[in-house]
Amino acid sequence: MSHRPAHRSDPPRPPPRGADLHVHTTHSDGVCSPCEVVNAAASVGLAALAITDHDTVSALAVARPEAARLGIELVGGVEWTAELDGREVHILGHFVRDDDPAVLAASARLRAARVERLAAMADRLEALGLSVDLDALRRAFPRATLGRRHLADWLTRTGQVPGPREAFARYLGDRGPAEVPKPRLGWTEAVALTVAAGGVAALAHPPYNLREATLKALADGGLGAIEVAGPGINPNLGRRWRAWAAALDLVPVSGSDFHAQDRPGRRVGASVTADADLERLRSRSAGSRPDGGWRMADA
Ligand SMILES: [Zn+2]
Ligand SMILES: [Zn+2]
Repeated sequence: MSHRPAHRSDPPRPPPRGADLHVHTTHSDGVCSPCEVVNAAASVGLAALAITDHDTVSALAVARPEAARLGIELVGGVEWTAELDGREVHILGHFVRDDDPAVLAASARLRAARVERLAAMADRLEALGLSVDLDALRRAFPRATLGRRHLADWLTRTGQVPGPREAFARYLGDRGPAEVPKPRLGWTEAVALTVAAGGVAALAHPPYNLREATLKALADGGLGAIEVAGPGINPNLGRRWRAWAAALDLVPVSGSDFHAQDRPGRRVGASVTADADLERLRSRSAGSRPDGGWRMADA
């Protein structure tokens, strides 16, 4: 016998929980559209989702009406390609305004540099005896910022390599014969851009050999958060970084870094930020200041 109240015929749905603060779309190198990732986030019961495409905020305006329709919070986001001590690091910007002129200008500058980089890598592949049709590639991914993944995909589809893995191993991997370094911002610039656009900067999937002194320097430079869990993060290192975050007053965040359902466990919501940490992050964004009452959720 059921003890449910008679008027409630459906089982109650659990309240939405957690925030996936690291998701890619077709506006960078993800395979799902902005609306598809919003739907995926809503279907797994997330309270919030940040779309964090590489060096662009263009997916946010596309996703916003769908997020509003489904009642899920869309956090403005970006993942800057940056440089720290000569190495590439990624800086997430959460709660950034996607109409910020400096963000849009930096994004346009990096995009232009990436177009040049793509052409340079295609030239190198051709010099190695392979063929790349850049126009066809652009038609196949009309909104994407094309990069190595797309070239690897092209080489695979056209039968020039057995798969993307081989394309990277033979040609496109770091320091491979066809690889050209990615254009990137200085980390201080990435952090400053994010903060000036109302957001909070987070160090994404930190390098495994991150030192606490380096993290402190980043925190002193305006970093507000650090990614401590996700598919590419070793849980032991994540625990260490979580302790450092507590000591340095950084917010610990997590996300799926979803690009595609290309291996088991890769899905939106696979790794989430706790609701309390999302609120800490929000409280550090300009949107929570009484004077600058802008909030992505209000849009
Ligand atoms: Zn990244
Ligand atoms: Zn990412």
